[in-house]
Amino acid sequence: MYYEKDKWFAKKSGQWVQNKIKYVKGVRHILEEYGLWLEKDLYNPIKKWRLDCKSKDTSEDSKYCAHHFLASQPDFMSQKTALHEAVEDSGHIFELYPKFHCKCNWIERYWSAAKREARLQCDYTYKSLDKNIHTFLDHTGKLPNIRWYYNRSWRYIEAYSQEMNVKEANDVVVGH
Ligand SMILES: [Zn+2]
Repeated sequence: MYYEKDKWFAKKSGQWVQNKIKYVKGVRHILEEYGLWLEKDLYNPIKKWRLDCKSKDTSEDSKYCAHHFLASQPDFMSQKTALHEAVEDSGHIFELYPKFHCKCNWIERYWSAAKREARLQCDYTYKSLDKNIHTFLDHTGKLPNIRWYYNRSWRYIEAYSQEMNVKEANDVVVGH
């Protein structure tokens, strides 16, 4: 996704040298290489095609702007994120949860328990946090605890799927 261009630079001595400079290819550059660049706005041909409509709505017509059009190309859609690739390359499973209420994600309970332990045990210096963080995570991350976080999240998911509101769900799960 880079292209190179020769550029002239003046050294301190006043001598001019030519160097290759790497540039990141922009949206327009890539679409032009694909032969997919549209000059005119499809909906308003007296206007130029917009580079980015800034809309977060991905359901819009993909040719509305160059940004969305590039993102809708099959090879772009199948590209994993750098994080995804790094996790899988080191032999782990990469699982993405949909964005939902934190009560429905067990790992939030684990973090919250670990943070609570850190608050109780920590002397509020970075040094001590750095030294003890693994203990906090190990203590709160024992298998029975993880099972508890997991079950509790499932009970919230069940309550919400019965269309309970926040208070009702809380009453059922926590039992007050
Ligand atoms: Zn757009």
